[in-house]
Amino acid sequence: MRLSGKKVFITAAGQGIGFSIAEAYIREGATVLATDINKNLLESVKGAEVLELDVTKKLELSAAIKEWKPDILVNCAGVVHAGSILQATDEDFDFAVSLNMKAMFHSIKAALPFMRENKSGSIINVASVVSSIIAAPNRFIYGMTKAGVIGLTKSVSIEYVAEGIRCNSICPGTVDTPSLHERLKATGDYKNAMKAFVARQPMGRVGSPEEIAALAIYLGSDESVFTTGQNHVVDGGWSVG
Ligand code: NAD
Repeated sequence: MRLSGKKVFITAAGQGIGFSIAEAYIREGATVLATDINKNLLESVKGAEVLELDVTKKLELSAAIKEWKPDILVNCAGVVHAGSILQATDEDFDFAVSLNMKAMFHSIKAALPFMRENKSGSIINVASVVSSIIAAPNRFIYGMTKAGVIGLTKSVSIEYVAEGIRCNSICPGTVDTPSLHERLKATGDYKNAMKAFVARQPMGRVGSPEEIAALAIYLGSDESVFTTGQNHVVDGGWSVG
């Protein structure tokens, strides 16, 4: 088991990518604290300790991390704002910045003192290939905040590279999660929206959360001790050409 003896803190672990990472980590022997804003969803995470937690609540987030003292911090919480710059409001902008970026600023700040003391740690931030890597229509705020996650990841990695602490981001393409289906429904034409999403995938399909979790295992484990500050793209070839 690749994560035996590792304590892990995961945000947004109630469903989708965060849930699959929690499941995979438990399977690999880690001791997991699975957190999510939705308490009911956490009931399906078996084998982990669970905690209802809204990552935009700085004090609660910081206190939970300081108490858990994670070897691995997985920042997965994020929101997709659908719309162009002309459709985005100040409220949309501020909310996405606070959930997609500022929460990572707070969680990493809370985790670092313990990791520094331990001279070891792996921080994994879930960004997106829609960021500074590629653009997608109707993803103005989303792409901007996820590009911010990539910058944040690099900045953290360079500060602590000599102290045994690594910070990497995962940049998924389109992944089959509950929120993807909500986004497709919200277009008003689920079938054609799904067709369009699949059409932009060179592999002819969207990804599975388990395929993202496989990368998260690698980045959390000591197999990846020589990589930090990188964006690891898992997108079925979407960004290739
Ligand atoms: P999802 O959207 O299906 O689920 C999101 C989870 O986050 C839910 O369990 C929800 O309760 C929780 N959550 C929402 N607000 C929260 C908050 N304030 N605090 C704590 N938890 C909160 O999940 P997903 O699609 O797997 O997305 C997870 C991450 O992956 C996000 O950061 C997303 O941007 C990123 N991502 C997803 C895709 C995709 O296609 N699904 C692609 C690229 C990146």
